[in-house]
Amino acid sequence: RPRVLSGIQPTADSFHLGNYLGAVRQWVTLQETHDAFYCVVDLHAITVATEPAALRRRSRVAAAQLFAAGLDPERATVFVQSHVREHTELAWILICQTGMGEAARMTQFKDKSAKFGEQAASVGLFTYPILQAADILIYQANSVPVGADQKQHLELTRDLGQRFNHRFGDTFTIPEPYILKEVEKITDLQDPSAKMSKSSSSPAGILDVLEQPGPLRKKVMRAVTDTGSEVLFDEENKPGISNLLRIQSALTGTAIPDLVARYEGQGYGTFKKEVAEAVVETFTPIRERTEKLLADEVELDRLLAIGAERARVVARHTMAEVRDRVGFLPSL
Ligand code: ATP
Ligand code: MG
Repeated sequence: RPRVLSGIQPTADSFHLGNYLGAVRQWVTLQETHDAFYCVVDLHAITVATEPAALRRRSRVAAAQLFAAGLDPERATVFVQSHVREHTELAWILICQTGMGEAARMTQFKDKSAKFGEQAASVGLFTYPILQAADILIYQANSVPVGADQKQHLELTRDLGQRFNHRFGDTFTIPEPYILKEVEKITDLQDPSAKMSKSSSSPAGILDVLEQPGPLRKKVMRAVTDTGSEVLFDEENKPGISNLLRIQSALTGTAIPDLVARYEGQGYGTFKKEVAEAVVETFTPIRERTEKLLADEVELDRLLAIGAERARVVARHTMAEVRDRVGFLPSL
């Protein structure tokens, strides 16, 4: 079985629709055909200042949501990144293979640090993509299901894997991104030029999986719409409506041209109401299952311990080889 690896940050109290459609839904599908490794990347979350109690809560919420969304702990290896220490160790070795200029080209660092200024950003936020490369390479992943915002980081991962293989001998599988065009970038409901994001969307711009039906409906109804009144797919002139069409199509399995035909002559109101219903119908069962899983922390932590143990076996194996190839003495 080919192997798949992906991660999600515990940087909010819920995942949003972009995380679900762009990543998590594919994770669930891929567990059927792949040897699947999925992690809650808490080491990534601390690249920006994070309160310990919030990190703890959000890590459990993130894990519970993954199981609630359909990941099966029997089939998929679901774990918390910091439980597998080898990620950090490999990250250091890869940091030493990365050029300053190469790291400085990463646009996510530029975007995320713009909020507080590059000088105030942590060095961890700067080296984040290299830790991500370690997350992927350490499992010898063939495929990495992510949204479009991760394309550049995946390129860096491939470059670092190839460079290591070239310098020290064949060690890492070079992974391919797995990005579904139709859902690669779900945009902010209030700003169709920006991606929906846990850390930078306004509350009105984001649809959280754990949100109640009332606020979800209200946000969809208030999503910025474009001039005119026809429901048409036109990324250039109708980015807001096009985003809602993409969402509706992904949630209902109806092709966009069929949706456009269905709403012809009906204006935005009916369309938005039906988008809101599709969102509520998808999110409600996930929210209910998440709440149930969170009610039993002992059981949740047990599932994560099983995942961590399985992940460690693979990570330790890769690291033993990496240490030797780099020239570190065996520790007896
Ligand atoms: P943060 O703002 O803290 O970075 P995020 O919303 O970007 O949070 P991540 O945890 O960084 O979420 O990303 C988890 C996965 O969700 C990644 O594969 C990412 O590509 C995907 N993803 C995030 N936002 C979107 C989006 N708007 N559309 C499609 N995929 C997305
Ligand atoms: Mg992100």
